Amino acid sequence: MNEETEQIRVDRYSRQIRFAPFGKEGQARLRASHVLVVGAGALGSSIAETLVRAGVGTLTMVDRDYVEWSNLQRQQLYTENDAIHRLPKAIAAAQRLREINSECRIHVSVMDARANELEQLCQDVQLIMDATDNFETRLIVNDLSYKYRIPWIYGGCVGSSGVSFTFRPGATPCLNCLLGHIPLGGDTCDVNGILPQAVQMVTSHQTMEAMKWLAGQEHMLRDNMISFDVWRNEQVAFRVDKAKKEDCPTCGGSPDYPYLSAANVEKSEVLCGRDTVQIRPASTKQLELRLLAERLNQLDDGTATLTPYMVIYQNQHHRLVIFADGRALIHGTSDLAEARSIYHKFVGG
Ligand SMILES: [Zn+2]
Repeated sequence: MNEETEQIRVDRYSRQIRFAPFGKEGQARLRASHVLVVGAGALGSSIAETLVRAGVGTLTMVDRDYVEWSNLQRQQLYTENDAIHRLPKAIAAAQRLREINSECRIHVSVMDARANELEQLCQDVQLIMDATDNFETRLIVNDLSYKYRIPWIYGGCVGSSGVSFTFRPGATPCLNCLLGHIPLGGDTCDVNGILPQAVQMVTSHQTMEAMKWLAGQEHMLRDNMISFDVWRNEQVAFRVDKAKKEDCPTCGGSPDYPYLSAANVEKSEVLCGRDTVQIRPASTKQLELRLLAERLNQLDDGTATLTPYMVIYQNQHHRLVIFADGRALIHGTSDLAEARSIYHKFVGG
């Protein structure tokens, strides 16, 4: 690297380097770090942008969804153009993040990452950021975190409220320990909506913790769980140490990481915020999207549109978005059985 580029880099990060507790050493450590962000929705957009602007060395991001108009109100990486082209969030995010900071290595995957995929993705990361919207995935992340001794930073929000906690193997109880002790989940943005300010508040807590950890300032991490409501002007922090279960299957004496071994069966679920069901086939397929689009267009039922990442099939009642790995989003229903039958009718078994 020549002197000029070095000077630009110093200027670029000068405002956080001048913050003495972070300093040059923190910046160098951040630059040597690799972070996995699970999800590229509201939380993932905000987390990734903050870390990439701050100068994280490598960021890997995984997401299963594509950009829609209702995302633009709070998912800060995306534009109208992304929604018009229904770009996969991971792809749109990568483009934007590379424009923001070309020095960062950005890796993205468009997929519904479950245990196997996430286990691959977390192999050489120093931190996992939770930007998911469901506890099923968080429990997988939790198992991976304690198995490989990589901290993960939980963040959740709905309506005007949010919650965050930094899970550290060996230092804190795990999510499995906390379930049943504290009310987690239940509400969805389907019913309660979500305000961008709640997102920003959660991700501020998450990324601050991330920067401390990556900068080697472990002693500065917050050791309690934080919960707030930005509309009602409430904020509480509480300790969770006592929730630690000695026989916990994830962080106890003889762990078996239950969420890593769950059978890989066809899964269908109603997605948060939309009249939509996701179908995930039992084993990953390799669909020829072009052939699928041709076949669907021969049906006298609707219209199939092919994009580089998916086939969008629209008929009178439903819209199907089908990805090359066989996963599909069925819009226009929240009935799992109906969605499965539509899937098998149009995509096959
Ligand atoms: Zn535990």
